[in-house]
Order: sequence, then C-alpha cells, then structure tokens
Amino acid sequence: MSPIQSLLQDLHHRYSSLSEGKLASYIPELTKANPDWFGISVVTVDGQSFHVGDVDQQFTIQSISKVFVYGMALEDHGRDRVLKRVGVEPTGDPFNSLIRLDEASKRPDNPMVNAGAIATTSLITGEGPTERLNRLLAMFERYVGRDVYVDVPTFLSERATGHRNRAMAHLMLNFGMINGNIEEALDLYFQQCALLVTGRDLAGMAAALANRGTHPLTGIQAASPDYIREILSVMYTCGMYNFAGEWAYRVGIPAKSGVSGGILAVVPNQAGIAVFSPPLDENGNSVRGLRVLEDLSREYGLHLFDLSLGRCRFGEALLASDGEN
Ligand code: GLU
Repeated sequence: MSPIQSLLQDLHHRYSSLSEGKLASYIPELTKANPDWFGISVVTVDGQSFHVGDVDQQFTIQSISKVFVYGMALEDHGRDRVLKRVGVEPTGDPFNSLIRLDEASKRPDNPMVNAGAIATTSLITGEGPTERLNRLLAMFERYVGRDVYVDVPTFLSERATGHRNRAMAHLMLNFGMINGNIEEALDLYFQQCALLVTGRDLAGMAAALANRGTHPLTGIQAASPDYIREILSVMYTCGMYNFAGEWAYRVGIPAKSGVSGGILAVVPNQAGIAVFSPPLDENGNSVRGLRVLEDLSREYGLHLFDLSLGRCRFGEALLASDGEN
C-alpha cells in the first residue's frame, strides 16, 4: 500500500473513536447527520487520489461554498471592485457576528464570515435569480466535474430559520453596504450553502485550487488562474472561523470549514485534502477534521512556513505512491 493511503487509514482508525463535538443544530435539517460519518480524501495535482471512510456520503457544503463564490465575484468584477464591497480583514469574531455592522463600517470584514459572504453573493451577476443560480451551479459543476444539486429540505430549513442572516442583510442594506433585492441575495446564499457534495468532491475542488484552477482529474478549468492567490489568501487568514489564527500557526495551510462538518484544505502546487465528520467544536470546526489535518500537516511538513527538510516529504511520499488515477 502507498505511504499516503496507509497514513490516511491510520488517521481514520486513530480518530474514528473520538467522540467529542456536537452536530450543528441552528439549521434544523443538519441535526439529521450521523455523527459517525467520517471520510478523508486527498487528490494530488498530478491526478492521484487517496480515500478512506465515508468519502461518498453526500452533505451540504455550507460555508465552504463561500470560497468558490468569492472566486466567482472576483471573476465577475475584478479585485478592486470586490475589495470596495467586501474587506479581507480577519475578525476573530464568530462567523455569524453582527457586532461590526454599524454606521462606521464601510463593508463587511471579509468574505468568509456570513455578512461578507452574503455581500459577496449579492455581487454575482445575471439577469434575475434563475440566471444567477444557474451561473453559480455551473461554476460548482466545473469544480466537481458533474451535475450538482441544491438539497431542498436544507435550503428551506435555513431559509425558514435564518433570521440572523436576514438581519445582517437588512443592516447591510440600511448602511448602503449592499444593493439590490436582498431577499434574492439571501435565497441565493442559502442555496449555495445547501449544495450537495461529498468528501471526494471537496478534495478535487481543493486540488483544482492547488492546481491554479484546473481540476487535475477532469482537466476542466474550473476557475481562472488570475484570482487563486486572492482566494487562498482569505482562506489562510479567515477560513477557520475564530480559530483561523491558531490554525495558521499550527497547521499552516489555506483551508475552509463549514457547519455540516467538512474541511477543505489546499496545499498549493501539491494537493487538495478534504475531511468530513459532522461533530463540531465550540468554534464550529469539525473535531476529527482538525485532528486529521494537524497530523497530516505535521507528518508531511505541509505548513507553508515549515522551511525545514520536512517540507519535501509530501512530495517524496507521492513519488513512492500509486494512488487511484
Ligand atoms: N448556511 C450557514 C449559515 O449561513 C453556513 C454557516 C457555516 O457553514 O459556517 O449560517
């Protein structure tokens, strides 16, 4: 067995009995997840894949969608226009915080917190809500390599209970931070969050980001290479809720997590990694996901600032590996 496959199996075995964490419950539909679901996937930029556990279990992408929609807004409007509407400062506040939305704030802090993500979604261009949704789905389809679907029960569940997100949108409208029809922007935001993916999909999506926008397994150009640097930068500084600083310090790779228990991580020029396990810690990050990624980063020297020899070990292990092609 290849060294990467065997390490993934070890990690899966090591953490499958870890029972800390709780399912997200503020979106009622998310409580239906099985806390035992646990999958780990790696897709390398040269097209090898390694999978263990529940990598074909579907779940809703939730906040991980913010990364890709940000990329789309950048492609639709360019960096300067997007920066005027959504900043790139980490907040250290919870993802659903309202406290920085006031008269004095010119724009939401960054596209990874909900306020910034709703503002980002409101920038997606298209004639009417159907065209905007279709454009968004087409973008995700390029990343996934097949048709994608919105999970309607989760969409409706969040739409019916997302008062906090609705409040943010109203505040932003009041302060002139977003324009247009906010009900439509919120619907599109709830739809993007309710998109169904698997861990296998997420690793491929991460690998496309690691590979300058081209999916290594399908060869499809999912995103323009022009904005990958911007996308990875906000993931690095803001992607892991209010654990983002500690994550950057300990694990050191751009990543984004979501409340359904997925974490997507990008090792630039090397690989995409995804872990899916629904129980979350108090910051909203998957408990098993954090442990697996911290161990993988340490084992293969993946931290971007690990300048020791360790940095090459992932590459060496890949040379010795023969993953699924
Ligand atoms: N749809 C969720 C919300 O807006 C996404 C949250 C998340 O995954 O962080 O609350």
